Amino acid sequence: MQLLSYQPLAEQLFDEIRALSFDGVGVTRASYGEGESATAEYLRAFALAQGLRVQVDRAANVVFSLPGDDPEAPAIWIGSHIDSVPQGGNFDGLAGVIAGLLALVARQRWHPTSGGGSALPLKVIAFRGEESAWFGKAYMGSSALLGKLAPADLQLKQRSTGQSLGECMAAVGADVQAISLQEKLVDTRAIKAYLELHIEQGPVMDARDLPLAVVSGIRGNVRHNRIVCLGDAQHSGVVPRWLRHDAMFAVSDLIMRLDTHWRELLERGTDLVVTAGIVQTDEAEHSISRIPGRVSFSLEARSKSSDTLEAFYQLVQAEMASISRERGVRFQNDRRLTSDPATMDPGLCDMLLQACRDNGIRHDTLPSGAGHDASLFANAGVPSAMLFVRNQNGSHNPHEAMDIDDFMLGVQVLSDAVQRVQDLGHALAF
Ligand SMILES: [Zn+2]
Repeated sequence: MQLLSYQPLAEQLFDEIRALSFDGVGVTRASYGEGESATAEYLRAFALAQGLRVQVDRAANVVFSLPGDDPEAPAIWIGSHIDSVPQGGNFDGLAGVIAGLLALVARQRWHPTSGGGSALPLKVIAFRGEESAWFGKAYMGSSALLGKLAPADLQLKQRSTGQSLGECMAAVGADVQAISLQEKLVDTRAIKAYLELHIEQGPVMDARDLPLAVVSGIRGNVRHNRIVCLGDAQHSGVVPRWLRHDAMFAVSDLIMRLDTHWRELLERGTDLVVTAGIVQTDEAEHSISRIPGRVSFSLEARSKSSDTLEAFYQLVQAEMASISRERGVRFQNDRRLTSDPATMDPGLCDMLLQACRDNGIRHDTLPSGAGHDASLFANAGVPSAMLFVRNQNGSHNPHEAMDIDDFMLGVQVLSDAVQRVQDLGHALAF
């Protein structure tokens, strides 16, 4: 099945969704908010016009399938997300959903009389709530579906409105009661394979002239959204160094110690990245002439290894205890948030690699530094794989770019891999 002729349709979908979520700078599709809902509604109308079946699952994600397929039958899933960071790019997440929809539309048009029905149907899912930018928690839509959203998560507050995640999910029709009971809202045994196409979000593929790459694994992370360091706020001119309890120096000391550990771990070949993305003195009381008594900061470590994450986390705690003693400060941690690293299914990766070769596309295998919904499915025992499409100017910014020709190669490879799973479905181990 050739999908390259669907390029004008792909461009139209990207352009129209960009227009409806444009904020004057980039696109804003807030998790469980306006831009995300408008995108969901647009895609629903598009899919219905194409003769597809559209359903909303109990976590308010949108599910597309062929009308001829049994919606309850075991299926292959293609998924990604429709939310974005504030002033983000148009392709992060949306590319994967549009790729899946094009594969579905092509199947519908291929077999219009039978409704495209297959023994191993294809479903496409548009997740809500993947970006951590809005509630300080990532993969909310897929976590809710898999019974992995804790009651405490539902209390998280939206960054600008202050509304709780539970309220926002309920407002778009999610079954928040079942979600808070951590009920599994889907039978994972009926998901025979989970595939996700996503832009790379980093510079490697562009630098190496690779239009496509198959993802080998996804880094997990451990983070605190907000740690508060409490010292003693005093006049900056009168307190000598030995009597100070400076929260800013304490936080700086911590970050530099973590940098030393990080460098040593890298020298031993460990996979790790560490970031303190938010550091703030208290605006209500900070001043040039006042020793900071209160500094809050975020802390995040990512790695392909759970053991590395745990070991590094213990180092953080030990350094906090040591700095507290030496500098007379205290650290207060908020709730620890963890996303497990994920391994991709070798059989599915092979099918994607084979499809790249069959289409004569330059490609390689790369790890994913960013997290994706696919990691939740892989960790729930669903055979999962991801395909990266080269993109320019990074991601999570309004300058994010993607060549539509590269995207169409990705759609072709994704669709070919689905076809291969459908052909071999019953002979495969899963
Ligand atoms: Zn994404």
